[in-house]
Parts: sequence; C-alpha cells; structure tokens
Amino acid sequence: MDFALNDEQKALKQTVHEFAENEIRPVSMELDEKGEFSWDVVRKAAKLELTYSGVPEEYGGPGLSMLDNTIVIEELGWGCVGVASAIALNQIAILPILQAGSEEQKKEYMARLTDPDNPHLCAFGLTEPEAGSDAASLKTRAVRDGDDYIINGNKCFITNGGVSDFYTIFTTIDPEQRYHGITAFIVEADTPGFSIGKIEHKMGMRASQTAELILEDVRVPAANILRGEGQGFYVAMETLDTSRPGVGAIGVGLARAALEEALAYSKQRVQFGRPICRQQAIGFMLADMATKVDYARLLCYRASWMLDEGIDAIKESSMAKFVGTDVAMEVCTDAVQIHGGYGYMKEYLVEKFFRDAKILQIVEGTNQIQRLVLSAQLIA
Ligand SMILES: Cc1cc2nc3c(=O)[nH]c(=O)nc-3n(C[C@H](O)[C@H](O)[C@H](O)COP(=O)(O)OP(=O)(O)OC[C@H]3O[C@@H](n4cnc5c(N)ncnc54)[C@H](O)[C@@H]3O)c2cc1C
Repeated sequence: MDFALNDEQKALKQTVHEFAENEIRPVSMELDEKGEFSWDVVRKAAKLELTYSGVPEEYGGPGLSMLDNTIVIEELGWGCVGVASAIALNQIAILPILQAGSEEQKKEYMARLTDPDNPHLCAFGLTEPEAGSDAASLKTRAVRDGDDYIINGNKCFITNGGVSDFYTIFTTIDPEQRYHGITAFIVEADTPGFSIGKIEHKMGMRASQTAELILEDVRVPAANILRGEGQGFYVAMETLDTSRPGVGAIGVGLARAALEEALAYSKQRVQFGRPICRQQAIGFMLADMATKVDYARLLCYRASWMLDEGIDAIKESSMAKFVGTDVAMEVCTDAVQIHGGYGYMKEYLVEKFFRDAKILQIVEGTNQIQRLVLSAQLIA
C-alpha cells in the first residue's frame, strides 16, 4: 500500500494550491460579503482546465483521474467553498453527459465546456421544491410531442443556475412509475420557456450562485434525452455515487484551512501569560482537528481510488462525503472556538469558514441520506 502522491500529483496539488492562494483567497471575503459569483475567477480556473479537469482527452479535457480530481478539489476548498462549489458542481453536472450521453452528445457538449476562449458552465437540475431527499417524487413533467418533449416544472437550489449554458434536467414521463418514469434531458439555457427564477440569498457558499429554474412549455428534442426514457434516476444516482468523494474533499480543504487559521492564532494569542496553544485543552483540540482532517482525506482518497479502479464504491463514496463534510463542520466550529470572540467577527476567516461548512452537510444528498445509503448497503 502506497500512501504517497506521485510527482505529477504533487505538482498538480502545488499548482492548484497556488491558484487558490493567489486568485481565490484575495477575493474570497469580498465575494462572500457581496454574495457574488465571479466569472473572472472561474475563467482563470478554466485556463488551468480546472472547471473540466475530469473530461477525457478525447473530448478536449485533461482527463484527470478521480483521485487527481479529489486532490484538485481539496485545494479549491481550501481557497473558498463558494468558488470550489461553482467549479466542482460544474464537474458534477458534466458527469451525467459523460456517463450516460451518446457519442454525439459528449462531443457537442464537452466542446463547449472545454473551449479555452469561452469556457461554458453547466448545471445539475434534480431538486424541486417538494422533492429534495426523495428525488424520485419529482414532478417536473415531460410529455412527448412528435420528435420532441414538452417540459413543465420548477427546479430549486440549482448551483450555477443562471450562469450555465445548458442544464441536465430530471423530469418524469409518468409520476405513477416513480423511479422508472424519471428521464433526464439536456436543456439549453436559451430554449423558449426556460427561465431563471429566484436567486438565493445564502448563509454560506456565497461565491456560488444558487437559483430556481422555471420550465414553461419548454420544447426539447428527444435526441437530448440521456440514455433513454425511464433511465434518469439511475443516471442521477451514478452521478452522485461518483461525485460524493469530491464534495467530501471540499470539506477536507475547508477543514485544513480552518485548522491552519486556528493553529496560527493559538500560537500568537497570549492569555494567562502564555500562547493559548500551550493550554492543554487547546492543544488537544488542535490534535483532534488535525487527526480528523487526515482521516477524512484518507476516506476521500480511498473512494476516489476505488472509482478509478472500477471497484463498486457506493458505500465508500457515501462515507467520504459525510465524514469529509461532518469533519469540516466540527473543525470549523473548533476553529471559531479557539479564536474566542474574535472568531465570531467578520474580519476573521474562520467566521466565513463556519458558515461555509454547514452547506456541505446538506448538498449532494444530506449526511442523513448518506447514512441511509450506507446502512442500506450494510443491511443488504
Ligand atoms: C446551496 C445549495 C446548492 C444546491 N445545489 C444543488 C444542485 O446544483 N442541484 C440539485 O439538484 N440540488 C441542489 N441542492 C439541493 C440539495 O441537494 C437538497 O437541498 C438536499 O438534497 C436536501 O433536500 P431538501 O432541501 O429538500 O431537504 P429535505 O429532503 O426536505 O430534508 C429535510 C431534512 O430531513 C432529513 N431527511 C429527509 N428524508 C430523510 C430520511 N429518509 N431519513 C433521514 N432523514 C431524512 C434530511 O436529511 C434533512 O435534514 C442544493 C442545495 C443548496 C442549499
């Protein structure tokens, strides 16, 4: 068993870390304050192929492995969860097309995502106001009309909603059929009847845009279906099983950043005549935080490695997601505590980290749902 990164992985980690340090961190507090998505940062990320790093070379991407991508995403998470999410959710939205698209669909849509002069984004449209964890109860309806389908419905909380060029929209062709009726379509943002509703005003992850999607008599060719009628639920689950270690890795990056801030602060903050890191209670907190970051990372690496090796990793992906993001919440909470009252103030990064951590336990299947997936696998 080899736990070391190879030379290419070390160089990749270094490059993305420098990007996070030089391009993301300097603007992250301002983007958070304004709740603003930054095309400037995303375009710079695209120049490094980070927005489409998992796209295979034959479709114009660098074709990074899952493990390499997890390394990339940890560094982005270290930089800013909002920016990391805008980039990572684009990668997640690419997956249904890569995993379930026809050759023509892959060629057409990957070309747009990987255009170096004008890189586009896409989004993953599953959640609805009344269908969150229970995705199979979604109501967005697709009705066949000749060679097209007419889609009506609403999607909510869609990351990169309003800044994407196209969307994977999960619909039902027959709600009675639950899972078996769900059908995924690629929908162009400029299709008549497709519009962006409410842009959410969020607690954290504020540098990524979260929007409602409204579909009113949107006419989409049958050729835009991914894999086939009634296959959409499986397309969505395959995407989520693959993408979960990446969300865990955003958590690992965030937790690492919070640990660094807490450690630095505890070395310079003097109370009772010595730096607070010399108080054993604080030292033990730091020790626990460092350990959590490490074990969360190991779970993310393992799940990613298994996916690269083609080993079934449903359990391990769920573990990576909920441990990576629970650890982010725990470590960020402790980082605020170590900063005392200052940690509650907006001038300190840990205040932002704490708000950013919360969303990671909710997106991409809540951490309760991850435990549900895992327990079902254990019991089966
Ligand atoms: C900022 C943000 C970005 C997002 N981005 C996207 C995106 O790009 N694309 C997309 O499709 N969706 C996106 N989502 C939606 C996200 O995936 C859902 O919010 C999430 O799946 C939970 O659904 P819900 O909010 O409806 O909560 P609910 O499903 O209503 O859950 C409420 C609570 O009940 C718990 N719960 C529900 N069912 C069970 C159960 N069976 N057992 C135990 N506990 C249960 C949940 O864990 C949760 O704590 C985003 C959400 C947010 C907030």
